[in-house]
Amino acid sequence: MTKLIRSWVDSANAPDTDFPLNNLPCGVFSLEGDEPRCGVAIGAMIADVAALEEAGLIDLAGGPVFDVPFWNELMELGPEAWATFRARMVELLAEGSDWRGEVEPHLVPQDAVELHLPFLVSEYTDFYAGKNHAFNVGTMFRGPENALPPNWLSIPIGYNGRASSVVVSGTPVRRPWGQLKAPDAELPVFAPCRRFDFELELGAVVGQPSDGMVGVAEAEAMIFGYVLLNDWSARDIQAWEYQPLGPFQAKATATTISPWIVMTAALAEFRVPTPPRDRPLLPYLREPGPLNLDLSLEAALTPEGGRETVIARTNARELYYSAAQQLCHHTTSGCPMNVGDLLGSGTISGETKDSRGSLLELSWGGKEPLEIVPGVTRSFMEDGDTLILRGHAQGDGYRIGFGDCTGQVLPAAGLPDWAKE
Ligand code: CA
Repeated sequence: MTKLIRSWVDSANAPDTDFPLNNLPCGVFSLEGDEPRCGVAIGAMIADVAALEEAGLIDLAGGPVFDVPFWNELMELGPEAWATFRARMVELLAEGSDWRGEVEPHLVPQDAVELHLPFLVSEYTDFYAGKNHAFNVGTMFRGPENALPPNWLSIPIGYNGRASSVVVSGTPVRRPWGQLKAPDAELPVFAPCRRFDFELELGAVVGQPSDGMVGVAEAEAMIFGYVLLNDWSARDIQAWEYQPLGPFQAKATATTISPWIVMTAALAEFRVPTPPRDRPLLPYLREPGPLNLDLSLEAALTPEGGRETVIARTNARELYYSAAQQLCHHTTSGCPMNVGDLLGSGTISGETKDSRGSLLELSWGGKEPLEIVPGVTRSFMEDGDTLILRGHAQGDGYRIGFGDCTGQVLPAAGLPDWAKE
């Protein structure tokens, strides 16, 4: 396994930083009163790549790539340019670099910036590729015998979500209103969601377009990188609306992503196989090699004014279908994929109770409220709660992380007069 690539930025050499030189994740930041611009996290700092390009220290495709505040333009240039960019950043930031004097003025401390969405989200699809999650949810709704839908072991199931609702970490999320119907009630009511939940997921960022069907290996090469993703979910809205066309408003409030895209190249060494198959996959979906990622993931909850508690620990290797398999399947219909498409993995739960990636599972539908700290329990998210996702791959003396993916739940908005009786 590759060792830590040492940097002249001291904080990038710490074993517990998310952002060693081996990582080089892509984000968009702004200093107070300034316009957003592209940057790469390095230790506790950000390298202002827009400024480095202006200074002639980065030159890709002979033209400006970072004159816009999003990473889609680099994605469009394709995998060779992605590799060239990474190699150049290593040259500039490595210990002993000849360019230190020229680069150093273009570093800004992370604690001085605001972070923005790192890319223009073209479209957003959310899959359901976590088997333990699908089994747990299915058990709650249909019983253990019929927990997995009959298609689940053959198809990476998904639904088309809304790109407009994707927000960057730190954006508050307002509790949604919706139609709710208690199981024993005759009619629904219009009310604020009572079962608001998070979902711990990994998001894949598609960096190349498709025209027609794409195989799994080709799909893998199209993925620019990964983000942490919290698919906020209104369980009571979902329960009433989901048949027969699947989730709709229950998933349309917000989806929070981490501020940093970790490029696929930074995760190459952390590939692991998907879990054993319970049913052989159709040939088009078979993996050419290990495509899953060994990423430790956790979810933490902080009540308003309280302290943070980790409520779940799991790993991305639990996913039954990799992002490449999801992307391949997505193209089989002829659906064109575009630069900036976001693919959510589905909730990643492990087999044990403390590795479940949603409150629905952790509190077993609210029947077994989760004790956060003595005397404080949660069945679902309460107003003022902040939910934090974290994740990293563990290297030899370093780690590759995403930064925090956070969101605080705000109380529902007031009901407009026209919606009252
Ligand atoms: Ca989801």
